[in-house]
Amino acid sequence: MKKPLMRIPYTELLPSPATIPHTARSLPGAIAALQEFLHAPPPRDLPTSTVVLTGAGLSVASGLADYRGANGTYRVNKTYRPIYYHEFLANHEARKRYWARSFLGWTTLRKAQPNAGHYAVRDLGRLGFVSGVITQNVDSFHPRAHPEIPTLELHGYLRSTVCASCRSEFPREVLQAELARLNPLWDAFLQEAIATGALDTEDPREKRARGIKMNPDGDVEVPDAPYTTFRYPACPKCLASPPPLADGARGTVEVDGDGAWHPTSNAGILKPAVVMFGESIANGVKKAAEDAIDGAGRLLVLATSMATYSAWRLAKRAKDRGMPIAIVNIGGVRGEEVFFVDLEPGQPGSQGVRVEMSTDSLLPALVEELRRPGLWTLRSSPEAGSIQENEGAVFKNMLQ
Ligand SMILES: [Zn+2]
Repeated sequence: MKKPLMRIPYTELLPSPATIPHTARSLPGAIAALQEFLHAPPPRDLPTSTVVLTGAGLSVASGLADYRGANGTYRVNKTYRPIYYHEFLANHEARKRYWARSFLGWTTLRKAQPNAGHYAVRDLGRLGFVSGVITQNVDSFHPRAHPEIPTLELHGYLRSTVCASCRSEFPREVLQAELARLNPLWDAFLQEAIATGALDTEDPREKRARGIKMNPDGDVEVPDAPYTTFRYPACPKCLASPPPLADGARGTVEVDGDGAWHPTSNAGILKPAVVMFGESIANGVKKAAEDAIDGAGRLLVLATSMATYSAWRLAKRAKDRGMPIAIVNIGGVRGEEVFFVDLEPGQPGSQGVRVEMSTDSLLPALVEELRRPGLWTLRSSPEAGSIQENEGAVFKNMLQ
């Protein structure tokens, strides 16, 4: 039997980051090493394209919170603990709390935009270097910044909600309007917070003064908030036609007079279309991520400590296939020494790169350098184009 692949947070201390090659300590040194990495032919008969794996650090410059702080070893907000899948499904109160906090965070999340790091990935694709992106981020910034480069959202996406019973998806925006209708007092609080700028990511001091905490994945914490008063809707499809349960019996979906899910129900629960902690990644997504690794000759890891096993195992898969790996991340990366253990001393970056720098300054500078006519000849664009098309089809087929 296949083992399910679960999203589980990694709580061990991360190793100290290395610098490889040692010249990659400075910005010009890091750019030179990454140029070597992207231009050198991959070993054996591996494809010439590069697949990118990204994480939360890439969205920090867009104003979104990371799970870890700058040194990668502690949580930015120490009291924050993300909700677990089994807890969400089992507990009505936990869902009230989740949706109340998500209701408050959605406006800020929706306003946030991709940043220079995402657009640099787009440009690497246009230059023919990057054929696909696998991201652990649920903010959909990659597909927004570069719709032409296929993106696999390994941990799902916040832009939709999904019914835990019938798996129907609904836009998050539609749910937001429903939550506002079912919770007028909360909506008034939200409108006031927006009007006074209390939720603006630009002013963390104001937020602190008001006791509001922004956590990853659009979670907003307000001290002493009466979460138990919050109401959320049932899946409209399951409400109209109750789904069968696992044991074959007909499910019950009941709502109050306004349409809020009632605890006498045992189905029709909406959840964000993200893979929650403790939840398994769908087999189609898992397979598509493996295919994306297998279809490339290099792996470029950006702004992630690979603290989730689902991400780490993809890098391990790349390593086992003999793919050169480059990692750009501030702070240590889970098991990173494994990825660089067999590099020849003095290799200039063609076999592997490890840089401790922020992606939003390094990547645009790298793109600028790659655009300059220089020592390297750019690979012919028709060839790069056909690789992109083929892999795009693979991603689409896998996700259908
Ligand atoms: Zn449903």
